[in-house]
Amino acid sequence: MLGCAIYNSGEISDNMAVIIDGKQLSAQVVQEVAVETRAFVEEFGFQPGLAVVLVGEDPASQVYVRNKVKRATEAGLHSIEYKLPVHTDQVTLNALVDKLNNDPKVHGVLVQLPLPKQLNEEDIIAVINPEKDVDGFHPINVGRLSSGQGMLIPCTPLGCLMMLERVLGNLSGKNAVVIGRSNIVGKPMAALLLKANCTVTIVHSRTQNIEAICSGADIVVAAAGQPQMVKSSWIKPGATVIDVGINAVECDGKRKLVGDVDYTDVEPVAGAITPVPGGVGPMTIACLMKNTLIAARAQMNK
Ligand code: NDP
Repeated sequence: MLGCAIYNSGEISDNMAVIIDGKQLSAQVVQEVAVETRAFVEEFGFQPGLAVVLVGEDPASQVYVRNKVKRATEAGLHSIEYKLPVHTDQVTLNALVDKLNNDPKVHGVLVQLPLPKQLNEEDIIAVINPEKDVDGFHPINVGRLSSGQGMLIPCTPLGCLMMLERVLGNLSGKNAVVIGRSNIVGKPMAALLLKANCTVTIVHSRTQNIEAICSGADIVVAAAGQPQMVKSSWIKPGATVIDVGINAVECDGKRKLVGDVDYTDVEPVAGAITPVPGGVGPMTIACLMKNTLIAARAQMNK
């Protein structure tokens, strides 16, 4: 039986599965951003600003926004939180985003998704100034990423890529399978892996025989939103497994979070694996801080 090690120093032991500690890595990224933010403040005399807009009272979104604001403070950024009532209409939300687009103290604008039913997510994403689009969802930033010139890259796939590079170094030539083709995770993840010279396969709900496709991969990124779908038989021994999924399930009468990967089953086979929670989630938030600083620098250097 293989042992298990926490990845925290860049050292990987030959015969142990490595647990990729997203909490620790994200703390490191936030610290790095904090150092660069201090240099920014010295140069320009003010902090980069991040505006986070929350519409409604979805409990998960409230937690995400709280964590984002907390990390922003740790990174030395100026964060401004806007809370709008659940019945807010599109005109009001567009007007707020427009105001933030034109505020020179705001360098990053994030509208927390999902939005209440009466609001159109695509419309609001299109209203955000692409230069301030720190989520990287605006069609212009999507286009830039797919043409290999992305600057503001969606935070979750960016965090996954950083974890992969920390564990594997150069990804060139690796076979990578991405499970899921959403605009916010699957597609940008595949674009980033392609840019890193991986051979990339995307699988989705209509794909035949996913298990066989995954079992040939050096890297599997699971982003399907299906609790514990990925089993050990899907994974090539020694492969690196990144679990993006966050699924709330009932277990012994209690609610708990699990990923898209059956962690207990897969961990003994994988070479490296992210836990849920404590893997991709914290890295997503750290990458938001990184993107805010990148956006602020780009705006100031214009
Ligand atoms: P979506 O629901 O938008 O997309 C899910 C994708 O998975 C779709 O492409 C779907 O295929 C595919 N899929 C669904 N079921 C299967 C299946 N049985 N086999 C193969 N493919 C399947 O989800 P998101 O991309 O937004 O999120 C994915 C997961 O990641 C969720 O659990 C979400 O909570 C989590 N997440 C975590 C984040 C983090 O920070 N850790 C951030 C964002 C998301 P099809 O297109 O054919 O329908």
